[in-house]
Amino acid sequence: MRFLFILLVFCLPISFMAQNTPTIISNPKLANLLEEYKSLIGENDENHLFSESLTGNEIDVTSEFWDTSRIRLDYNNDVTYPINIQFKESNYVSPISRNKVVTSRYGWRKGRAHRGIDIDLVTGDSLYAMFDGVVRFASYSSGHGNTVVIRHFNGLETVYAHLSAYGVKENDSLVAGAYLGKGGATGNARGSHLHLEMYYKGVPVNPEYLLSFDENNEIRSQDIWITKTWTRPELHNSRRQSELELFSTEEDAIASMNKPPRVYIVKKGDTLSRISSRNQVSIAALCKSNHIRKNSTLRIGQKLIID
Ligand SMILES: [Zn+2]
Repeated sequence: MRFLFILLVFCLPISFMAQNTPTIISNPKLANLLEEYKSLIGENDENHLFSESLTGNEIDVTSEFWDTSRIRLDYNNDVTYPINIQFKESNYVSPISRNKVVTSRYGWRKGRAHRGIDIDLVTGDSLYAMFDGVVRFASYSSGHGNTVVIRHFNGLETVYAHLSAYGVKENDSLVAGAYLGKGGATGNARGSHLHLEMYYKGVPVNPEYLLSFDENNEIRSQDIWITKTWTRPELHNSRRQSELELFSTEEDAIASMNKPPRVYIVKKGDTLSRISSRNQVSIAALCKSNHIRKNSTLRIGQKLIID
């Protein structure tokens, strides 16, 4: 009995961490031992122990642009649009265990870019890794406060900011659902919340384009194509969720990028703020697309690019 216990506890995890998992599982003796082992440790722990080997994450995400000194990396514009991200699962693990209430969204906020979403929490709430990955950054940064950045195996990075305590350190390998630390209000945060950002090769992506932040924890598409629109905060409003137009094929994404821009012709009495609210586009985006300033005088008949 003692021998069996030693075999189960020490040999099985090592066997299952080996790369060639399918061969091991097809061995009936080991399959039986796995069943016994599972009944000993309980089903729940099994996911955490084995998900790394079972999902076949053999890619070394630390081989390129692995910089543990900063949150956002500069890939020297090594990104082409539309960006493709693939997910293996159809769900993600929620970063918090309570219901997610998004209090501020990706977009323009008080004249500045808000490159993430804010999820309400109570200081001390546990935070969890949303997908398998490796911790690239775990330290303090002004603004973000105590922050953990995880690089996932599909190239996506998730950033968890304003933590009150760390549960991981740089270069730690994590499975989805692993404990990261505790939520808080460190850095530039008014009230406790999780400020959550997502990057692909240093490009910020609106998290709500990729994932649903409700009780379903859904990945919008296992194969998703990101146009520039979903990376530019000035095209979104932090106070409301942007209308979702999902691209799950490269063709659809390219077609949308090649669409001619919407044009608005200035009428009598128009102001930038009126045009902004009637066309669901921020003043910042109008200024940027039309090379004008917030206080520029508009002429009747002037053509403005809306997006
Ligand atoms: Zn925020």
